[in-house]
Amino acid sequence: MTKINSFNAKKGQIEVICGPMFSGKTEELLRRLNQLKYYDAHYLLFTPKIDTRSPKYARSRNGRKLSSITISNSMEIIKYIKKIKKKVDVIAIDEAQFFDNNLSLICNRLANENYLVIVSGLDMDFNGKPFPAMKELLITAEKVFKLKAICSVCGAKASFTERTNINSKKQIVIGDKKIYSARCRHCHSLSKSRIFQK
Ligand SMILES: [Zn+2]
Repeated sequence: MTKINSFNAKKGQIEVICGPMFSGKTEELLRRLNQLKYYDAHYLLFTPKIDTRSPKYARSRNGRKLSSITISNSMEIIKYIKKIKKKVDVIAIDEAQFFDNNLSLICNRLANENYLVIVSGLDMDFNGKPFPAMKELLITAEKVFKLKAICSVCGAKASFTERTNINSKKQIVIGDKKIYSARCRHCHSLSKSRIFQK
């Protein structure tokens, strides 16, 4: 296949794909990485070790998957890049909400070093609170793509994630459809709490 040389990663920047669960964030990330094969561009894809749902792969619910480098903390991204010898243009990170607070610093450093950094992750937890690793990224990113899911109650576009069938108040509980569903603002339990009311 003839490669197109117009891929321009010389001006590094950060792009964030965010939204609730079931909004297609990983699908969108993998779609973008797959398109790189038409260019003379190479990527590294990182996923967090804590996410045990799909070890060594970033996998979308539509069945698309790409092998990934599984890491325990965001500093390992820098260590990995220093170690490898091949040319890399794009650093991709999936399930970024599970990373530590240094993720934004790391991503900004990489963008300053002219990498295109594409990050996919949940913006809000089940309580409508930002995930710490995503908070600063969303502020410093050049581009933010906020995806929507479909509300499991009314069918409207959904930006929130509801946690059901579990009592834990912990921000991070790994799970899928058994304990999470996408909800619109009006169908989310928070709409009945003081947080969203005057
Ligand atoms: Zn709804």
